[in-house]
Amino acid sequence: MRTEEILHVQNVSKMYGQLAAVQDVSLSVRRGEIVGLLGPNGAGKSTLIKCIAGLLRVSDGTISVDGFLVRTPEARGSTGYIPEVPSLYDLLTPWEHLQFIALAYGLQNWEAQATELLEQFGLSDKRDAFSGELSKGMRQKVLIACALLHQPSLYLFDEPTVGLDPQAQRELTRQLLRLRDDGHALLVSTHILAQIEPIADRAIIMSHGRTIAGGTLAELRETFQLPADTPLEDVFLQVTE
Ligand code: ATP
Repeated sequence: MRTEEILHVQNVSKMYGQLAAVQDVSLSVRRGEIVGLLGPNGAGKSTLIKCIAGLLRVSDGTISVDGFLVRTPEARGSTGYIPEVPSLYDLLTPWEHLQFIALAYGLQNWEAQATELLEQFGLSDKRDAFSGELSKGMRQKVLIACALLHQPSLYLFDEPTVGLDPQAQRELTRQLLRLRDDGHALLVSTHILAQIEPIADRAIIMSHGRTIAGGTLAELRETFQLPADTPLEDVFLQVTE
């Protein structure tokens, strides 16, 4: 098994004025691994993910993706970020968004895969509609399709299933597992623990900007001396109480 580290976060802090939204966080995600990033509201998950995506400058510490320091063109090219709130260009169609990604990343022969992605997410009939006319869930699906098209080493999903219908949630889970099996590294922030439990290789729990626990579900149960069949949600509640 390859255990190459794709994401390396070392002693990262992010201040918003006086507020330490992320405090001295270190973590890594390896190739072929899905890591769940969990934590109560305001724990700092989105802030950390935005720092990794290069959208926010860290106040302290270092982040590298595929060996490249974050915010370099190489790190950007190796990172796919799917934000919590889907933002698209209202006057571009889903197909034009995919075309834009293909141009931006210099992709060749992408059309067949783009068509397949739209089909898989039930968006074929919206291919040429203005994105401003799509529902929230549809917009989310377009963003996910864009990220799946350019195949970065690292995927950052910030609460990816919010607003998706059950069919699309299932499709997304299938895609996450496929990405993992293809050797990508995935960091997935979510509150829906029953969804992440069966697919995450590890979970990292944040609270008040810090990582307070991390490991496989078995390791977390052992650390907190919980019975072997304790679901992730109960582990989470115990750890964050
Ligand atoms: P949730 O689960 O509710 O999405 P989260 O774990 O993603 O929460 P963050 O959005 O990272 O948490 O917020 C962490 C802290 O940083 C919170 O106290 C929040 O109020 C604060 N914060 C977030 N964004 C900003 C900002 N732009 N300016 C100032 N403070 C911010």
